[in-house]
Amino acid sequence: MQRALTRISHEILESNRGASDLLILGIPTRGTVLARRIAAIIQRIEPDAPAALAGSLDVTMYRDDLGRTRTRTPSPTDIPTSIDGRTVVLVDDVLFSGRTIRAAFDALSDLGRARAVRLAVLVDRGHRDFPIRADFVGKNLPSATSERINVHLREVDDDDFVSIEGG
Ligand code: 5GP
Ligand code: MG
Repeated sequence: MQRALTRISHEILESNRGASDLLILGIPTRGTVLARRIAAIIQRIEPDAPAALAGSLDVTMYRDDLGRTRTRTPSPTDIPTSIDGRTVVLVDDVLFSGRTIRAAFDALSDLGRARAVRLAVLVDRGHRDFPIRADFVGKNLPSATSERINVHLREVDDDDFVSIEGG
């Protein structure tokens, strides 16, 4: 996992030609943890990277399935700087239907006008409902819709691992 995050960090820096005007925003809960890790790696590679590089974007109130699924409790949105003119890299643990990221676009446009928006995910499990793809992928894990990917991160789950369950 750490190697995948290091690779993604290098890919982000390469495609952005450095860390200037970069903003790495995670979708709570585990996307935020991953965004912080990626930001820390980028700051290690690029000493000129902005100190305020990572943040958190809650999308709960922007979901098109709000009320259709289990009750969701919003998490705080924490954006360290204005998004105007920045390249925002959204980070999530798993990409599935794409509905979360679609909601993130609405949440972002309420905050300003990013210069560009990119997407990094630890796992792409397929089954998109929207024309959304990730620019940076840790691992493609084609899954059955009935399966579930477990993503454990040591900051919230004590250890780091990814597994597939059920099916
Ligand atoms: P989507 O909105 O693309 O259908 O689902 C992505 C969001 O739901 C992500 O925030 C992710 O955390 C969560 N998610 C969807 N499927 C899975 C899964 O199989 N495992 C985990 N850990 N999260 C999932
Ligand atoms: Mg999630």
